[in-house]
Order: sequence, then structure tokens, then C-alpha cells
Amino acid sequence: MQTKYHNHADKIILVAEDEDLNYLLIQEIFKKNKVKLIRAKTGRQVIDIFKENSNIDLILMDIKMPEINGYEATRIIKEIRDVPIIAQTAYAMAGEENKSKKAGCDEYITKPININKIRSIVEKYLNR
Ligand SMILES: [Mg+2]
Repeated sequence: MQTKYHNHADKIILVAEDEDLNYLLIQEIFKKNKVKLIRAKTGRQVIDIFKENSNIDLILMDIKMPEINGYEATRIIKEIRDVPIIAQTAYAMAGEENKSKKAGCDEYITKPININKIRSIVEKYLNR
């Protein structure tokens, strides 16, 4: 089956991810879209980078991160600007989806990442 890749060379995704292997996977998933990725390794970093870059189109937000967790970072960022935020959590537990909605996340996905799912969600927001 052939997947169609939209060219997103003009788009920027801020990836909040403290674990290198998870970040490498995300890089691989979006390589063909040519989208620009910026990485943050802590909740504090994702807030700081977002404040310094007014042109970020979307945030992939790991929930379990050092310093400030993804929910708290989402709350702070959403007060600055309503950028789409997709939460990623390793906990496939009831309640997490609710927590992510309460924090202001637009979408919620569980790890391990389903490649087709993350692609289609990101496409949906980048094409708006
Ligand atoms: Mg993490």
C-alpha cells in the first residue's frame, strides 16, 4: 500500500520528548513530510521554546517529562496561544484522557505510538 505524504516543509512541530528513542521514532515518522521538528527535553524547555518561537504550528507533548509534566506545560502554553497540542502518554489508563482534555490538549494518544494514527492526527491539524 502506498501512503501519500503531504509536503509540510513550511510547518514546524515542537516535539516535547525526554527519551531519545521516542524522539528518533518521531523523526523517522515525519521525515518524508519534510516538516521541521524542534525538540524539547523537559516541560520547562517546551514552554521556553514555545515562547521564543511564534511560528510553531503544533506540539507533540509527552506527558511524563522532567521538571514540569506535559499537562502542566499544556496549561501554561494554552494561556499564551491556542496552538494544537497532541498529548502522548505511556499510561493507557482511564482518567488520563480526561486529564489531557482538562489540561487543554486537543488530542490524546497512547504509547507505543501507532504510526498511522499519529500521522493522520498531525495531518488533520497541519492542513487546517
Ligand atoms: Mg517521557
